[in-house]
Formats: sequence, structure tokens, C-alpha cells
Amino acid sequence: MIVSKSDFVKSSSAVDQCPTDNRWDFAFIGRSNVGKSSLINMLCNRIALAKVSATPGKTQLINHFLINDKFYIVDLPGYGYAKVSKSVKEDFQKIIKSYILERESMACLFVLVDSRHEPQKIDLEFMQFLGENGIPFAIIFTKADKLTEKQLAESLERYRTRMLEEWEEMPQYFVTSSAHSVGRDEVLNYIDSVCKDLEDANV
Ligand code: GDP
Repeated sequence: MIVSKSDFVKSSSAVDQCPTDNRWDFAFIGRSNVGKSSLINMLCNRIALAKVSATPGKTQLINHFLINDKFYIVDLPGYGYAKVSKSVKEDFQKIIKSYILERESMACLFVLVDSRHEPQKIDLEFMQFLGENGIPFAIIFTKADKLTEKQLAESLERYRTRMLEEWEEMPQYFVTSSAHSVGRDEVLNYIDSVCKDLEDANV
């Protein structure tokens, strides 16, 4: 898919303020500093469409960017910085939870994880929550340029092994580097294919 147009549309502080024009949302979420703004900017071909933030977790807004006048890329607030709790599941900010559970036009939620890190409890519990609620999602491993090819393969294998303790199969995933423009076509083509499937399904 070629991104010929990307426009910031609005910031919403609640799901009922989000755009209501029936275009599909492709949303991006992850722990703060995972590289979400950089990834969105890479996908949209823009240097600073989404702010690359120096103050983690400050913004609690849902940001909609309209791509090719066709679908939205949605920048969700980061999770996992505010507090550590024994029941993390209950702790995802209200705004995230209500967006995920109530946004009917959300086609896919991309969960970003840093490819260098061991599987993190908060990410695993978050994906468990998505699974329990039947939310379509895919994993995006970020900052792949920070690892050698061998380290990256080991890290992905470690993640897969951990996921398979709870999941029947490894969810759809992508490996990206915003610094080296890796994974851009794969993510955009996936978005394109999901859009086509949804159109074909006539929903
Ligand atoms: P956010 O808080 O999740 O939106 O993360 P940012 O996009 O603001 O990135 C956090 C930090 O990681 C910044 O210093 C970025 O320059 C850096 N970063 C993000 N993506 C990459 C990447 O693909 N490779 C490298 N080497 N650094 C990255």
C-alpha cells in the first residue's frame, strides 16, 4: 500500500468523542517508550505526525490519523507506567479499556513490544485480556535494529515459547525498526488485506 495522504484528525479524551464516519480504525498500543510514535510516523511517512515523546505517559488521549482518506491509524495512550498492581488487568486505564471494548470500528489492535526485552507480564496479561474479549490483534516487535540477527531470532523464539504457554498458536506478528524503516510494507500490506477482507465480508 502506498501512503499518499496522512492527516491528523483529532484527539479524543473518551471513546464517544472519536470520529464516527464508519472508517476502520487500526490502533497502536504498548508500554510507554516502546517506539509507538516513531512507528506511526514511519508508517505514515511523516517525520512528526505522532509526537516522539520525551515525557512518557503524559498524554491520555486517543489520536486519530486519517490515511489515504480510507482508514484511521489510532495512537492510543501508553500503558504500564502509572502503577504496578497485583491485578494489572484491572489497571489498564479506563480510556484504553473503553476504547478497546466499545469501539466497533476497530479492525485491528497492534500491540507493540520492544524486541530486546523478555516477555513482560503487563504485555502478556494485556494480550490475555484481548483474547478473552475476542479483540483482533497483532504483535509488533519494535527497535529490531538494536539487536543482531541472531539476538533477534533468539528473542522472537523466546517470545513465541512464552506465548505458546497460553495460546494455541503464535498470534500474527511483525518485526519492525523505525530507525531503519524495516517492516513498514509488511504492516501496511496487512492493514490493506484486513480492509479488503472486511469489505468482502460486507461489514
Ligand atoms: P513511544 O513513547 O512509545 O511513543 O516511543 P517513541 O517513538 O517516542 O520512542 C522512544 C525512544 O525510542 C525514542 O528515543 C526513539 O528515538 C527510540 N526509538 C523508537 N523506535 C526506534 C527504532 O526502531 N530503533 C531505535 N534504535 N530507536 C527507536
